[in-house]
Amino acid sequence: MEKTDSRNIGQKSRFTRRNFLKFVGTVTGASAMVTSGTSLLIKDVFAGKKQFELEKPKFKITKLDTSAQEIYKCQKTLKRFNCKNMAFKKVSEEFGVSWLTPWFQNMKENIMKSQIGYGINVKSPSEARAHQAFAFGANTWNMLLAPYGEGHENMGLLSWNPLHVPPDLRGHPDSAPEPSDLTKKVKQMAMLYGADKVGVTRFNRKWIFEQTCRNMLDPNPPDTKQIVFKEIEQPTETDMELIIPERIKYAIVFVVVMPRPSTQLGPSSFQTHAAANLGYGRMGLTAIALAEAIRAMGYTALPCMNDTSLSVPLAIDAGLGQLGRLGHMITPWFGPHVRIAKVLTDMPLLPDSPIDFGVTEYCTTCGICARQCPSNAISLDADRAYEPPATTGPTGNPGALKWYINGKRCLRWWIESGAACSKCIDVCPYTSVTLGDHYGKDKRPEKFWELDVAHFGHRKVIY
Ligand code: SF4
Ligand code: SF4
Repeated sequence: MEKTDSRNIGQKSRFTRRNFLKFVGTVTGASAMVTSGTSLLIKDVFAGKKQFELEKPKFKITKLDTSAQEIYKCQKTLKRFNCKNMAFKKVSEEFGVSWLTPWFQNMKENIMKSQIGYGINVKSPSEARAHQAFAFGANTWNMLLAPYGEGHENMGLLSWNPLHVPPDLRGHPDSAPEPSDLTKKVKQMAMLYGADKVGVTRFNRKWIFEQTCRNMLDPNPPDTKQIVFKEIEQPTETDMELIIPERIKYAIVFVVVMPRPSTQLGPSSFQTHAAANLGYGRMGLTAIALAEAIRAMGYTALPCMNDTSLSVPLAIDAGLGQLGRLGHMITPWFGPHVRIAKVLTDMPLLPDSPIDFGVTEYCTTCGICARQCPSNAISLDADRAYEPPATTGPTGNPGALKWYINGKRCLRWWIESGAACSKCIDVCPYTSVTLGDHYGKDKRPEKFWELDVAHFGHRKVIY
């Protein structure tokens, strides 16, 4: 047995199709982790199936008086992210067709081969089809709302104006609002609409996108629109700009937990696709409902899914977690097994403090996500950097001290595997120690239909 330390990071054997097939054969449908006592036993399938022991992450939460910009030592050169550089757009441009086209084609081929993802066999095409049907059904709310939100600012149910609050009930908020009382109320509403944990921040405009991109899945040149702040009464959209009133200064940020049983059937499967879809749908419903409630209290509210701003730094500023090596925010309650949404508002609120519970230090020596990522999209470097690797291209936004993710490699792997990957989220020790294992020793995909699941698949709901 070998203790992992920072010298192990970076010693991963090169990913090849051959050793990936070995990987699939070894841990299909399984987490490569066994928890015992205070340590985790990791099978490092990429390093000759060596096992090593890693101490379980600890959860002493410290409140900080610094912001995400300070925590990640952001340089002055850090620019607001431009949505035309999202991996979805860049890969569609690269393929000359929406990335969804080859992805759906490969999904269909998986079904015909009786597989629910890359190399994950089930008994028949119809069994494979049932898993895919679950994923498509799980995407329904998301598609009805505004698919994933990317490029959908102020569109459909993500409208920046009230949806159904009667005109007489709009505007005229309390003349002497009490921020702590309003904060308590909107957090409670968010939880009952579908959030699993809620935080508030007086948001940093650095995290608001510089431009939206309206044709995110289109291979043609980007169709962009500036996102700006102006002294204006109502949120407004023109041919050139999306204008947010200057007085909108707060973000209510929340996470929703994805169903854990689905991410355990990976590395890349129809089930992990279902997990993401359920997360997106529920986060969208929650954001839209919360925005409408805030409008009914007389304030302005902009519901946002993946649109309008980066979600991770807003969520860090709102005290919901820390940035992990895998590029997602890790929460102390549900690990990185969450999706994040937000509502921007002029309602005066009481901000939460960012937190530290040891994620950066743990990630420095862990590196399991990087070792098990099938596409080598996650950095294996021991240390964080200010610059993404050259291969990341414009999808990486230089200027923050972090482990950069190669979003294009990740997405190309989704296309190639004909399914959605969440391996990094599945194997993260913060996931296993918070959300556990739903399968035990029997990892067959068919077992999914027999699991005793609660609503949303992650916990027993207590009302
Ligand atoms: S980074 Fe992408 S390809 Fe790599 S494990 Fe995570 S989801 Fe899979
Ligand atoms: S994000 Fe990666 S490196 Fe950090 S704890 Fe999770 S698996 Fe380990």
